[in-house]
Amino acid sequence: MQQIPKSTSVAIIGGGIIGISAALALARRGVDVVVFEKGVVAGEQSSRNWGWIRSVGRNPAELPLSAMANDMWQDIQSGVDVGYRRTGLAYLAASESALAAHQAWLDIARESGANARILSKGESARLIPSSRRTWAGALYSSTDGVAEPTLATQGIAALAVSLGAKILEGCAARGLDVSAGRVSGVVTEHGLVKCSSVVLAGGAWSRLLCGNHGIEFPQLKVHASGLQTTPVNAGLDLAINGGDFTVRKRSDGGYTVSKLGASVAELTPDSIRLSTKFMGAWVKERKYLRLRIGRRFFDELKTPRRFGLDRPTPFEACRTLDPEPNVRMLDEALKQLKSAFAGFSDALPVRAWAGMIDVTPDALPVISEVSEIPGFFLGSGFSGHGFGIGPAAGSVLANLVTGDRPVVEVRDFSLTRFSS
Ligand SMILES: Cc1cc2nc3c(=O)[nH]c(=O)nc-3n(C[C@H](O)[C@H](O)[C@H](O)COP(=O)(O)OP(=O)(O)OC[C@H]3O[C@@H](n4cnc5c(N)ncnc54)[C@H](O)[C@@H]3O)c2cc1C
Repeated sequence: MQQIPKSTSVAIIGGGIIGISAALALARRGVDVVVFEKGVVAGEQSSRNWGWIRSVGRNPAELPLSAMANDMWQDIQSGVDVGYRRTGLAYLAASESALAAHQAWLDIARESGANARILSKGESARLIPSSRRTWAGALYSSTDGVAEPTLATQGIAALAVSLGAKILEGCAARGLDVSAGRVSGVVTEHGLVKCSSVVLAGGAWSRLLCGNHGIEFPQLKVHASGLQTTPVNAGLDLAINGGDFTVRKRSDGGYTVSKLGASVAELTPDSIRLSTKFMGAWVKERKYLRLRIGRRFFDELKTPRRFGLDRPTPFEACRTLDPEPNVRMLDEALKQLKSAFAGFSDALPVRAWAGMIDVTPDALPVISEVSEIPGFFLGSGFSGHGFGIGPAAGSVLANLVTGDRPVVEVRDFSLTRFSS
């Protein structure tokens, strides 16, 4: 059992990349900060992602954060090995129409500072000479890269701790202590910790905690998987989305393989409650997202939405979300990768895993103070893109907490955009 402090300036709920990056940014400013993690640091999405640090294909609203994060990753890597490498990243286009869609994104994203370009058929062939397929072209950024999810958040945590931040694992935050209408503490499973600000970076759990305090945060969970191969000499350092596969080189010499747009949104009671808000997203993503009803519907039906803070809460009942991977989809993605690149013919699957991505209706995060409860800040809903921009999002959260002006525009990330 770790020592629970009686008070701190800032309490952070959630030890994923967002909460830990916010802790580092606050510790750098000399702020007293404690992170409460119900399981282990990066036990959920932050260690289970593909490791892409990607600007291409992003919502332009996130591009300033993405540019800021790119520089921050370099800086983090110089302090601790998180496997960060600026490998470049390409969305390959199998057809002229796919290439036109990439061009349409670039036309808009350039105005927000996108550092990417369209490669012709010939340029694409020169970029990936080992490919057996002919590509119509590619959307390419030489400044995008990768880091190791199994190292990154722990590495950032080590930097934060070295600057005085405290990180308590196995310590769920049950909810907020509110006095005179504003945050006065955080109630944990090991007691009350007084503080003037709370940052909720609870990933897929944020909606539940918010809801218990009467705050409506529209957030659902989407299931996504990944596969690790044996080390192979495939001669491919670039991270690639090939349409029917994605691939990026790992620090251990193997590759992480999956497929973009193979996510599954399991229908839950919340999907029904939030159907009006998410309908637009489901229609837009219908090519990529499968809706399925399964056990989770009944599990979540049994989870209380309102609970007292004086007894165990749902956060203690599940320390780590650990869903089964979609092995069939991953096997198919590996097969397609092998058909596209001869260098992978000897690659064998070593390990498969899955995670629950937390999504919002517009696939943008919330990074804002919650106006109903002064002193309460939300950094959540990163919709499958939070690893790459995590360090920058954490820094912006720290700015909001300390009252400093964030260096990037945060208007698009307010919680109030969902009210109406
Ligand atoms: C398969 C997969 C592939 C992905 N690929 C990429 C990618 O290539 N690039 C990219 O940028 N993003 C990717 N993502 C998305 C990215 O991983 C997430 O956006 C990011 O990790 C979110 O970080 P987070 O800190 O918000 O959440 P999490 O990492 O989920 O952390 C939240 C933490 O909060 C804790 N918590 C919750 N409630 C409480 C409570 N009440 N008390 C204490 N602790 C609590 C949880 O235990 C958890 O550890 C992927 C995600 C998945 C699942």
